[in-house]
Amino acid sequence: MDSPSLLEAQLARINPLELVEKYDCPLYVYDSAIMKRQYKRITDAFKVKNLKINYACKALTNQTILKFFNHIGSGLDTVSIQELKMGLKAGFDPKDIIYTPNCVSIEEIEMAVAFGVKINIDNISILEQFGHLHPEVPVCIRINPHIFAGGSSKISVGHIDSKFGISIHQIPHVQRVVEATGIKVEGLHMHTGSDILDAGVFLQGAEILFNVANSFKDLEYIDFGSGFKVPYKENDISTDIEELGEKLSERFNDFCKAYGRDLTLMFEPGKFLVSEAGYFLVNVNVVKQTTSTVFAGVDSGLNHLIRPMFYNSYHHIVNVTNPKGKPRIYTIVGYICETDTFGINRKIAEIRESDILAFYNAGAYCFSMASNYNSRYRPAEVFIHEGKDYLIRKREVLDDLLRNQVEVPLFNTMEVKV
Ligand SMILES: *Cc1c(COP(=O)(O)O)cnc(C)c1O
Repeated sequence: MDSPSLLEAQLARINPLELVEKYDCPLYVYDSAIMKRQYKRITDAFKVKNLKINYACKALTNQTILKFFNHIGSGLDTVSIQELKMGLKAGFDPKDIIYTPNCVSIEEIEMAVAFGVKINIDNISILEQFGHLHPEVPVCIRINPHIFAGGSSKISVGHIDSKFGISIHQIPHVQRVVEATGIKVEGLHMHTGSDILDAGVFLQGAEILFNVANSFKDLEYIDFGSGFKVPYKENDISTDIEELGEKLSERFNDFCKAYGRDLTLMFEPGKFLVSEAGYFLVNVNVVKQTTSTVFAGVDSGLNHLIRPMFYNSYHHIVNVTNPKGKPRIYTIVGYICETDTFGINRKIAEIRESDILAFYNAGAYCFSMASNYNSRYRPAEVFIHEGKDYLIRKREVLDDLLRNQVEVPLFNTMEVKV
């Protein structure tokens, strides 16, 4: 992890107080330089002939972010037909989009086929139906490698009872479906979902995929998914992408030689590309001292940033208005009418009412998981690019909450102007 001063410098680059002055609070801010740095780290780490990074856009789906990744050469990983359409709208070539859904209907998959994107299938029932309907459309198959790291760490990369992927034990069945339907398998895929810390665990999964790959003769690519972990606090452990790149590239190149063809090595990171690029800026509404705790209550809550409550995630929080203030211990909470705690017992420079706090790692799974709970507006989003700031999503207004509500001629009352 960067040293605290580096972290501060990173935040200073975006001038948080000026942005709040200009766009108000609460505000999401994304720094394109960090996204580019992370993209480049991956492309530099892997030394293979053909490498394709597909940004997993469920992490952050704003059109400007998608266009930025298209601009720097990334493809797109999508998990729903709507994400796929967002990608096409942002200008991605369908060939650069992979559609990796889970438990969707064959009808939705057929819609994706019509757009000409890469199709990733993760269960045998759909593979069979798909093979009968579209024997001419090549597919990728999502494999669940079921491996566990050794010793006591037990880092799972594909539980035996996971709903994702086709078990490696079912490969013979897959082959029967392939033979019966004449479908072409152009890709193999694994995505474990968990935070991978150990290159060794990843390589174990890779070995299993290489092994399976030998049973499929028409492969064009192998997609190793994601699961790269980023640092969330000082001295936090994270995936050593450089080490992984070195080891996996070597193994991949050997595999290609034995396979007789240069395949494309693919990854689909979300968090790794955008997490550290994002900040969430909030205003302190109230500082509340109880018998045991000092609470700082902010103008946001689980409606805007649910990761701490949903996943127990850690987001580093700093006071940007009073950074030199004497550090004290605070519990940072939201304004939603249920418990929405962002951080417990955090050492933060003295917080006064109306101070601005910044949350780090707010690029991935933050805005994209925001809701209108408590009828609150979702925040505005700002994109920082080459020294300039751009509003890329307006703050919502009352009409946004009412937009799809249908008025029925019942219980009519006088409308009150609000
Ligand atoms: C969510 C997802 C990703 C991205 O995972 P990160 O942990 O954000 O990198 C990649 N591939 C698939 C299929 C996913 O569902």
